[in-house]
Amino acid sequence: MSDRYGDFVQSSIGKKVAKNLGLPMPVELDRFDSGQPLVRGSVLVGRANGDDKSVSASVARILSDVHADVYVNSSDDIKDALSDAGVEAKSNTGGDDKFKVLLFDASNISNADQLKEVYEFFHTVARRVEQSGRVIIVGRTPENLTDIEAALAQRALEGFVKSVGKEFKRGVTAQLIYVEEGAEQNLDSTLRFFTSARSAYVSGQVIRVSTGDNVDVDWTQPLGGKTMLVTGASRGIGEAIARVLAREGAHVICLDVPQQQADLQKVASEISGSVLTVDITSADAGKEIAEAAQNRGGLDSIIHNAGVTRDKTLAKMDEKKWDMVININLGSIAKLNRYLLDNDVLKDNARIVCVSSISGIAGNMGQTNYATSKAGVIGLVDATAKQLEDNAKGMTINAVAPGFIETQMTEAIPFAIREAGRRMNSMSQGGLPVDVAETIAWFASPASGGLNGNVVRVCGQSLLGA
Ligand code: NAD
Repeated sequence: MSDRYGDFVQSSIGKKVAKNLGLPMPVELDRFDSGQPLVRGSVLVGRANGDDKSVSASVARILSDVHADVYVNSSDDIKDALSDAGVEAKSNTGGDDKFKVLLFDASNISNADQLKEVYEFFHTVARRVEQSGRVIIVGRTPENLTDIEAALAQRALEGFVKSVGKEFKRGVTAQLIYVEEGAEQNLDSTLRFFTSARSAYVSGQVIRVSTGDNVDVDWTQPLGGKTMLVTGASRGIGEAIARVLAREGAHVICLDVPQQQADLQKVASEISGSVLTVDITSADAGKEIAEAAQNRGGLDSIIHNAGVTRDKTLAKMDEKKWDMVININLGSIAKLNRYLLDNDVLKDNARIVCVSSISGIAGNMGQTNYATSKAGVIGLVDATAKQLEDNAKGMTINAVAPGFIETQMTEAIPFAIREAGRRMNSMSQGGLPVDVAETIAWFASPASGGLNGNVVRVCGQSLLGA
């Protein structure tokens, strides 16, 4: 879909007009490109003082693995962790050097006074972050801390990160990654995702990495040899998910309703995937998925993407619109998961990923049915995550909650509301289907065993439900 305003402010006259009038100035976001290195610029790394060096050691190992160009502040003792990992870090001399990534290990911060170290690290380089740069803080999960001072300090980091996301503009994203003690080895997939261009439209998010079965992967094809099913794969976000999963090495079973057969066939053949036409609300949908998966030895992942809107204010909403949206967006997912788990269609270490929406977090005018269904998806993820933890097969479930994504669904929104939705976020633009797809590929990776029960918004840090 064209974004005429976005195109206009990219021109030199457009830039001047927007600046003078104080209008939003969306920049072209960096996105995945197979020819480019994972991290497209220098990384400044720092750490808060303290005895626990386990997070820094993992961060250093990952930066070494991705061949990052690493800088440190001269007094910072993270240098030891880096040199142990074989990284020759350069010194940040405080000159004009710009950084693509600012990465701070805050795991040792254990009281309010020590938050000053976060201020000191970021304050001096706040104007030296490149366009589409990344701000990342790694901390400790506050709910797991019994010391009140430590818990409040770690929780405080959320306010810092979310404010940075709103301040830095120019496509810079900011995230907080809480890592459970003992789960430091599970940081790989998450740090690779957030330091790279794959996370272009994800900002202001809090991610929890826990101890869970991690599977080693070949990072050039992390989904190689896996069979993954995507519902609603004939167009929009579902099509993008199918394409990204296939790009990362998966065989994708593309599912959609029979009316979408032609488009579905086209997508599947372009990615050498297979086709399954079935309505996910039909009584035998679970059985049909099981049969399609059986030929390939079961499913490594299911992506519950299919969804519909039937907007009306509550007073005007007929029963049919309510039932349809709840059945497709929520009821069918619960039924399918139950069937696939009860019948061992999902393999060990399987990844279930659901598509929710920021409407399910914030609520939305005219969307009582849709917001109810999408909030229910979050409830389903919360409850299932606990169940999967107990069944000890290494499976995980997570959700993405897209904001304004440029698809046929958002094209149907009236112009004024559509333009507001597009601009009311820290990126001042709508996201692309590929942004949701990249986030799903991160959750679907065998290397993401430490991610269970997360709900990550792909919304450019939308003001809705912020
Ligand atoms: P879309 O309408 O372009 O595509 C949805 C797909 O789901 C279609 O191919 C449709 O045929 C399929 N589908 C619908 N009912 C089905 C059923 N009963 N069985 C099988 N397939 C069915 O929508 P989209 O914008 O690509 O949205 C994809 C998902 O993302 C949805 O769950 C939607 O709620 C969610 N989402 C989208 C946005 C956005 O801005 N586009 C924002 C938040 C959430």
